[in-house]
Amino acid sequence: MSPSSGSSKALYLRLLRHVWPYRAVFIVSLLAMVVAAATDTSFAALMKWLVDGTFVQKDPGLMQWLPIAIVSITVIRVAAAFSSQFSISWVGNRLVMDLREKMFERLMHLPVSYYDDHASGNLISKLTFDVTQVTSAATNIVTVLVKDTLTIVGLLSWLFYLNWKLTLISLTVAPLLAWLVRKFSVRMRQVSRNSQRAMGSITQVIEESIEGNRVIKMFGGKDYEAKRFHHAANLVRRLGMKQTAASSANSAMGELVAALMLALIVFLVARQSASNETTVGGFVSFITAAMMLLAPLKRLTNVNEPLQRGLAAAESVFGLIDTPNEIDTGSVDLSRARGAISFEHVNFEYANSATDVLRNVSLRIEPGQTVALVGPSGSGKTTLVNMIPRFYQPISGRILVDGHDIQAIQLESLRANIASVGQDVVLFNDTVAANIAYGPLAGVDRREIIAAAEAANAMEFINRMTNGLDTMIGENGVKLSGGQRQRLAIARALLKNAPVLILDEATSALDSESERLVQAALENLMKSRTTIVIAHRLSTVERADRIVVLDRGRIVETGTHGELMHNNSLYARLRRTQFDAASQNLSGLGALRDDPTVNVAHE
Ligand code: ADP
Ligand code: MG
Repeated sequence: MSPSSGSSKALYLRLLRHVWPYRAVFIVSLLAMVVAAATDTSFAALMKWLVDGTFVQKDPGLMQWLPIAIVSITVIRVAAAFSSQFSISWVGNRLVMDLREKMFERLMHLPVSYYDDHASGNLISKLTFDVTQVTSAATNIVTVLVKDTLTIVGLLSWLFYLNWKLTLISLTVAPLLAWLVRKFSVRMRQVSRNSQRAMGSITQVIEESIEGNRVIKMFGGKDYEAKRFHHAANLVRRLGMKQTAASSANSAMGELVAALMLALIVFLVARQSASNETTVGGFVSFITAAMMLLAPLKRLTNVNEPLQRGLAAAESVFGLIDTPNEIDTGSVDLSRARGAISFEHVNFEYANSATDVLRNVSLRIEPGQTVALVGPSGSGKTTLVNMIPRFYQPISGRILVDGHDIQAIQLESLRANIASVGQDVVLFNDTVAANIAYGPLAGVDRREIIAAAEAANAMEFINRMTNGLDTMIGENGVKLSGGQRQRLAIARALLKNAPVLILDEATSALDSESERLVQAALENLMKSRTTIVIAHRLSTVERADRIVVLDRGRIVETGTHGELMHNNSLYARLRRTQFDAASQNLSGLGALRDDPTVNVAHE
C-alpha cells in the first residue's frame, strides 16, 4: 500500500504486538464491527419488505412485524456501533499510554549526547502529538478496513441478489468515484500538511514571545513580534479556508456523483419495470443500498491518507524507542568510594564537531584532595569534569575512580558517588525542600534539609519566603534570584554528601558577601572529600592542593599557587589580568566578566 511496504509491514507487526495484551477487547471491537456492518445490509434489505409488504401487498402480518423489526435492527445497530467505537478507542488509549511510557522511560536513559543533538521541541512533540497520530490513524484504518469493507461486501451482495444487471451497470460509476476521491484527497493532504507546518510556526512565535518577553519589552520588539504573529496567524487562517473549500467541494462532488448514479438507476429501472423485472420495494431497497454504499466506499478509497500519516508518526515514535540506552555494562559496585580519580591519556572530541576538546589529559587526584581547574573560557574545563560521571566517553585513554575504569563501574553507583554544582542550576517546579532533597533523598529528615540549607547560606532567604521550605519555586525557579538558585543547588549537593564534589563556577552568581559565607561552608565540605573546583574564588584556587591550568584542551601547567606564580606562566597572566581589572576601578568587575578569555574567579 505504501512505497516502502517492507518496513511498513514491520511497523504494522510491531503495532500489533503492542495491541496483543489487549487482544480480548480488540476482538470484541472487531466482532461489534461485523455486527454493525451486517445491520447496515439488513436495513437496506428491510426496505424491500417495507415497501412491497405494506404499500403494495398490504400484508397485515408484515405490517405488524415491520415496526418491531425496524426498532430491533436499529437497537442492535446502535449498540454494535457504540461498543465497537468504545472498545477500539479503549485499546487506542491504552496503546497511547504504553507508547508514551516507553518513550519517557527511554528519555530517562538516553545519553547526554542525544540531547545535545536533538531539539527539545521535537522530542516533546513525539510524546505529545506523534503518538496520538499513530493510534488515531490505526483506529481509523482498522475501522475502515473491517467495518467499511464488510458493509461494502454486504451491500454489494444484496444489490447483486436484487438485480445483478443493474448492479453491474451502476458499478461503472465506481471508477469515476474513485478517481474523484483520489484527486481531492491529494489536494486535501497537501493543504493539511501545509497547515500543520503553519501551526508549527505560529506555536514557535508564541513560544518565543512568551519566553523572551523581557527582551521584547527592553528592546521594543512588540511591533516586530506582533507583525510576525499576524503573518503566522493569517497563514493558518488562509490554509483553514482552503481546507474548508477543498472538503466542501469534495462533498459537493460526492453528491453530484450520487445524483448521477441515481439518475442512471432510475433510467434503467424505468426500462426494466416495463418488462416487470423489478418490484417497487426492490427498487427502493436498491436505491437505499446504493446510496449507503457511497460513504464507506469513499472512506475505503481514501484509506491511504491516514495510513501514511500513521506510518510516518509510528516511525517517529519507534525511532525514539529504538535509540540505544546509555551504555551501562559495568559491574563494579563502588558503594562509598574513597574518591581517587585519575585521567590517563584522555582524548575527547564532541561527536557533532570534529575539533579536539581534550588532548592527552593525564591527571591524578588523591582521595580528599582539592584540585582547581583554571584556564581560558572554552579550554575544556567543563568537558573534563563532565567525563567523570560518564556524560561523555573518552575517544581514547581512560578514567579511573578508586582504581576502577569508570566503564567497568555501574552507572548508578558511579553517579551516586558524585555531587556537583554547575553553572546552569536546574530546579524543578516543586517546593524548596523537594528541590534540596531531590531523588533518593526525598525521604530524609527535615532537620538534615535545614542543616544543608543553612550550610549553603540559603536558610536566611528561605525563611523570608511565604511558606519557608514548603514554598513552590515556580518553573525552573523563576521566582528566585540567580544567587538564591545557586545556593539551593549547593544545598542539594551538600545534602547528597558524596565523596567526590565537583564545583563548576558554582558561586559565580553570588555577590561577594554571600559568596564569602557559602565559601566557608564549601571549604568545610571539601575537607573530607575529593573536590574539583573550576574557576572559583581566588582564595580557593590559591588554597587548592594543586592547580591545573588547561589551555585549548591540554594541561599546560600544574602546581601549587606558589609554584605557578612565576612570571610568564599562563596562570600568572590570568591572575594579573584579573587583578588589573579589579584594582583599576569598581566596574573592573564588569570588565572582567565581559572579558571572554578570562575565566578565573569573579571577585
Ligand atoms: P570551559 O568550561 O573551559 O569554558 P567547555 O568544556 O565548556 O569549556 O568547552 C570546550 C569546547 O568544547 C568549546 O570549544 C565548546 O565550544 C565545545 N563544546 C562544549 N560543549 C559542547 C557540546 N555539547 N557539543 C559540541 N561542542 C561543545
Ligand atoms: Mg565551563
